[in-house]
Amino acid sequence: MTVAVQYPEGDLLKTRRHLSAEEDERLRHIEAFVQERLRKPSLEAWNEERFLAEALPSLADLGLGGLEIDGTSRLFKGLAHAAVAQADVSMSAVLGIHNELIVGLIHAYGSAEQKEAWLGRLSRFEALGAFCLTEPDHGSDIAGGLATTARREGDSWVINGTKRWIGMATIADIALIWARDVADDAIKCFLVETNTPGYHAEMIRHKMGLRGIPNADVVLEDLRVPAEAKLPGARSFADTNVLLCSSRAWVGWQAVGLQHAVLDVVRTYVTDREQFGRPLASFQLIQQAIAEISGNLTATQALMTQITALQQEGQLEMVHAAAAKATATRLARASAALGREALGGNGVTTDYEVAKLMGDAEAIYTYEGSYGINSLIVGRALTGVSAFV
Ligand SMILES: Cc1cc2nc3c(=O)[nH]c(=O)nc-3n(C[C@H](O)[C@H](O)[C@H](O)COP(=O)(O)OP(=O)(O)OC[C@H]3O[C@@H](n4cnc5c(N)ncnc54)[C@H](O)[C@@H]3O)c2cc1C
Repeated sequence: MTVAVQYPEGDLLKTRRHLSAEEDERLRHIEAFVQERLRKPSLEAWNEERFLAEALPSLADLGLGGLEIDGTSRLFKGLAHAAVAQADVSMSAVLGIHNELIVGLIHAYGSAEQKEAWLGRLSRFEALGAFCLTEPDHGSDIAGGLATTARREGDSWVINGTKRWIGMATIADIALIWARDVADDAIKCFLVETNTPGYHAEMIRHKMGLRGIPNADVVLEDLRVPAEAKLPGARSFADTNVLLCSSRAWVGWQAVGLQHAVLDVVRTYVTDREQFGRPLASFQLIQQAIAEISGNLTATQALMTQITALQQEGQLEMVHAAAAKATATRLARASAALGREALGGNGVTTDYEVAKLMGDAEAIYTYEGSYGINSLIVGRALTGVSAFV
């Protein structure tokens, strides 16, 4: 028996009802654009490990370059990130890092001159940034282990070290580089123009996920920058904790969009494809898979809606962000695997999107703090015992 499809948008909780009419309208514009103009081209770009730079002017017109500082609600920002992830998780990684870790960091901790020079251009996507924290020998233990050095010499800083996995580092105009001041051992952040002699970035190839955003190994060799390159507000990791909480939580919204995309792809596929003379959608095991994907998506949306409420009230702490990020990406990984299975052999080729989503789920499960480390942050908060330091 067939009946009318309820919830064609797949949002059982009607999450957007919390938005103002104006934000709801703006979100609809974003959703329409990314579904019509980003989703399809992103598949080929993903296969070719190519960044879709040509989409940036339109994304700027939609206000996505300055989302972090545009005064909209945290829920709107989250749903906008989810909408982009629903079309292409790689582009949502570009926008998320750009907003949370570049625009947000300069806005919160930059000098008046740094804000004046860069925030306008970044907001219009006339300039791009890279966030350079992770190193080849220090990932999970970066806070204690960071080995890149900054040495003050007269009116300059001289930076030496290596970074790994840095998103956009091959094409960015500026890099926010975290380095340890050899004088006081504190970790500081420097805004560096990437055309400065001593900055070298080489793209990491053959990723299994997020293939539409270039990640790079970066070598910093006697990189000399003026004293004013240091972000005055970012004197230590502790200073930037609020911002790092927010960027970690943002990944949860990527997981919402990713699962939404899985649901879209699977619903269409199982309705169209027939086996044993009937659509796949008519088999109970397939419906169970759809219900599980929808359940995971709904749980992630509910979690993220509460997280944004805490953010909006200024109450977000690292344990909340870690719990959200770990749980949301665990569910996204499970949903992508269920979706892949429902597509049978066609789930194995990226032509049908779900394999792309499965690879992307692996990447978001690990960046912004691995699943394991975020779990240990929650475990520490709930037991009072640290299992990792
Ligand atoms: C696609 C992608 C994009 C990225 N973009 C950026 C970027 O733009 N800028 C940037 O600075 N970084 C970026 N990263 C780096 C990312 O944040 C790190 O990969 C992540 O923090 C994990 O570090 P690692 O890869 O060195 O793993 P490791 O720290 O080597 O960990 C390996 C495994 O061991 C586990 N582990 C480690 N320590 C413990 C412990 N004490 N107890 C139990 N388990 C443990 C981890 O959970 C993980 O499963 C990116 C990474 C990826 C994959």
